[in-house]
Amino acid sequence: MVRTRFAPSPTGMLHVGGLRTALFAYLYARKHKGDFLIRIEDTDRNRFVEGGIEQIIDSLSWGNIKIDEGVMLENNAIVQKGEKGPYIQSERFELYQKYAMKLLESGHAYYAFDTAEELDKMREVQLASKQKQVYARASMRNSFTLSQEEVKNLLAAQAPYVLRLRIPENEMIEFDDLVRGKVKIHSSEVDDQILLKSDGFPTYHLANVVDDYLMEITHVIRGEEWLPSTPKHVLLYRAFGWQAPTFAHLSLLINEQKQKLSKRHGDVSVTDFKEKGYLPEALINFIAFLGWNPGDEREIFSLEDLTSEFDFDKVSKAPAVFNREKLNWYNRQYMMNMDLHEVTRRALPFFKHQGILDRDEIDDKEEFEVLKKIVNLERGRVDTLAELPAAVGFIFSDDLSYDPGLLVWKKSTVEDAKDKLQQIYNVLQADISEEMWNKETLEEHVISWIKENEYGVGDVLWPTRVALSGQKNSPGPFEIAEVLGKEKTLQRISNALKT
Ligand code: GLU
Repeated sequence: MVRTRFAPSPTGMLHVGGLRTALFAYLYARKHKGDFLIRIEDTDRNRFVEGGIEQIIDSLSWGNIKIDEGVMLENNAIVQKGEKGPYIQSERFELYQKYAMKLLESGHAYYAFDTAEELDKMREVQLASKQKQVYARASMRNSFTLSQEEVKNLLAAQAPYVLRLRIPENEMIEFDDLVRGKVKIHSSEVDDQILLKSDGFPTYHLANVVDDYLMEITHVIRGEEWLPSTPKHVLLYRAFGWQAPTFAHLSLLINEQKQKLSKRHGDVSVTDFKEKGYLPEALINFIAFLGWNPGDEREIFSLEDLTSEFDFDKVSKAPAVFNREKLNWYNRQYMMNMDLHEVTRRALPFFKHQGILDRDEIDDKEEFEVLKKIVNLERGRVDTLAELPAAVGFIFSDDLSYDPGLLVWKKSTVEDAKDKLQQIYNVLQADISEEMWNKETLEEHVISWIKENEYGVGDVLWPTRVALSGQKNSPGPFEIAEVLGKEKTLQRISNALKT
């Protein structure tokens, strides 16, 4: 049975790169009817951020990624579910010590007593003589260079020590990667990794391998930045006598300037995108295409579709470009094609945020129907939900301020604009009752009136549209008039005439 995991360190908000890793691990597990786990890797307590676990899980559930086992949230509280817990590494410290001791006994790990100064010195010398920057086992103070007696005495005197992994000499370390194929790294490139720190805490490497084994993870799916660590992990599995899982290292995410995607260059956290008014469906669809594609022209995929289509044979090892324009395109597609009721419901918090509404729920059916029409006016014209309130702000405004010159169409004159506005005012007032006031009737009536009089369509509709919206670009006049209602529509035309 396939078991994948996402193993974040709670060091801040979930990065979109992390969301992609989680998504691919989730999709792979789903596709194979397996389990998707969350494990929290908090061995580095200095980097722990309060609330970090909650934020990460919250972002995953916003993206509709369901967790089968491990760390989850229930009523905003962290819970752990499953037989193989605890799933938070800081609750498993004793376990790592036990396994480190096994490696010590089998000779795969050894004591090292070097002080920070001694290690600095070592690096200086290596740098000066252009040697490899790996732990110089033969010239430092450790189980290999000290006598058994000396080691014993140091331990008895409680001298601080670390446990290091003994990397074999002159060996080609190999493993298969689902994205990169066969990966080979020579052991001379690999450092004698610290497994247990002087305070008894495990490093990421030891904890990660022990947990992936004990949690029966079959596929380790993670970012490319962990590729250099994998030979160490392969050796650790071997040292324990365990079968290593299958690895898949996902390529780097870069921006259009080919830089690594980082906070310095704009939004990178899932929360940023949520707050900017991106729909989770759109973000997930976009993220899935960062390094994966279905092999044909299709671009719109629900999470369900992705579950059946996703596979590693279509995942590229080239860096994936995070293209904001494309993300906006996806968001527009989803905003346009999603049920209007649903889009409106999701837009409510943004209306509240911008002060257009004083609450983010609307119980009144009629009020909600009006808002739906308003949202529908602009949902095809903006990139995000957050841009909606500003875009439809003119509907709510009682005092549109715009340059009166805007009322005059480019092929027309001030007099003509005035004349047409006056005429349309009269026509609308006399001919169309409040009951008949909808965009279809308005359009039908006005267009045939324009034709009868042999007026230019633009000569009439341009000033009308500007009078109603106060904007150079806006939805069409009939749609706006329907939403405004008869009274406000006439009011705005009469205001335009005055200016
Ligand atoms: N804790 C690591 C991270 O934050 C996990 C790496 C892995 O998946 O092995 O990315």
